[in-house]
Amino acid sequence: MNVADSRLVSSVLEKLGYTATDRAEKADVVVLNTCVVRQSAEDSAVGRVSSLKGLKRKRPNMVINLMGCMVGVKGGDYLESLKKRFPHVDVFSSPSDPGPLAAYLTQDESRDFLEKATARRFAFMNEDLPLPKNRENLVSAYVSVVLGCSYACTYCIVPYRRGPERSRPVEDVVREVESLVSQGVKEITLLGQIVDRYGLDLPQKPTLPDLLREIHDLPGLERLRFLTSHPNWMTDELLDAVAALPKVMPHIEVPIQSADDEILTAMKRGYTADEYRELVHRIRDRIPGVGIATDIIVGFPGESEEQFQRTYNLIKELRMDVAHLARYSPRPQTVAARRMEDNVPDEEKWRRFRLLEELQEGIAGDINAQYQNQTVDVLFEEKVRGRWRGRTPNNKLVFVESEDNLRGKVLPVTITWTGPWSMQGSET
Ligand code: SAH
Ligand code: SF4
Repeated sequence: MNVADSRLVSSVLEKLGYTATDRAEKADVVVLNTCVVRQSAEDSAVGRVSSLKGLKRKRPNMVINLMGCMVGVKGGDYLESLKKRFPHVDVFSSPSDPGPLAAYLTQDESRDFLEKATARRFAFMNEDLPLPKNRENLVSAYVSVVLGCSYACTYCIVPYRRGPERSRPVEDVVREVESLVSQGVKEITLLGQIVDRYGLDLPQKPTLPDLLREIHDLPGLERLRFLTSHPNWMTDELLDAVAALPKVMPHIEVPIQSADDEILTAMKRGYTADEYRELVHRIRDRIPGVGIATDIIVGFPGESEEQFQRTYNLIKELRMDVAHLARYSPRPQTVAARRMEDNVPDEEKWRRFRLLEELQEGIAGDINAQYQNQTVDVLFEEKVRGRWRGRTPNNKLVFVESEDNLRGKVLPVTITWTGPWSMQGSET
């Protein structure tokens, strides 16, 4: 979602006549887009914003924009405290909102910008959020379709920082996708914290399948994906739409978080482990060749060894294609942080994390090994250290050595090597 937000800010800055640079030292505007979903992410955001102090001292006219979940949507005392804490920041802006920065840059025309004679430049300070240096070459782009979240899982800070759930109108989304595709984008991933709830808050009540159908036939668009789904809103209509629409890729991201019913209740996830298992079977039955990814939190307050074991066993049974693992981290304001003791010791969280990591490495390795000597369609995105990087329909990472320019092309590739996290192949 932050990648999508950063792209939005980039396009607004480009419209204002700025060009991108990857060097903060050379930029007139520096944007730091922040994530605070876990304490470690917040710590690194704080480190980065603090590291800009020296640069600002040297170049006081440089504009620093702190945006995203560290700023949040609430304003008030919290925002005042941020302003006091980071006096070198010029503009604070909420997630997904390029407005305050654009207003700051345009309303103050008298600003004495640096290097006036040269073009104005902007940079992002997020090494973890890669933005292609040349966006004209963007092959795959994210488009947020549901902003915020109103679900309030007890561990999660997202609703407090991204605000309540809001779906963007169909026409807005279509317009953004059309514009991206006209710039050469081949693959669009629609984003929402609960993307399968798309449209429930809109007057016409369009569904995610409606939206997929609306975008599907745009000429030039090759692939469509969406994430993240919540188990409770994965309707058969949605799964059937994925299966029926050729450009919608067989790829579902549907987090389980835990496979223990008591923990799931304490998390307020709203489903049981059995219901999740049935859902995975339903997805696999309806979408041939589907790749399924899940998210898991280990060490939620009160998680016993036995409860963790349930998660371990279900993952072993279900054999997901990808598992994003996280160690529980108490977040301010959340119900879990206020009412539940973070009582699983850090070493124990790490132990559970590593056990799952090892399990998943084996599963992913076995799944990928089945692709050896098979031919798959790969959409190529960019060349990294001499190899072209692309993805299969079910989202497996494939590298191919080639002197040709493969960017933006969908080509059949024969797999010659497989590992748990990626595969290699050659052009067929
Ligand atoms: N909307 C998505 C996920 C949003 S946050 C969903 O409903 O699943 C992305 C992931 O971060 C979550 O899936 C969860 O695994 C992890 N996460 C969120 N809050 C966390 C916390 N307090 N501690 C550890 N991991 C957390
Ligand atoms: Fe957070 Fe739950 Fe909303 Fe996902 S659904 S963003 S985990 S509150």
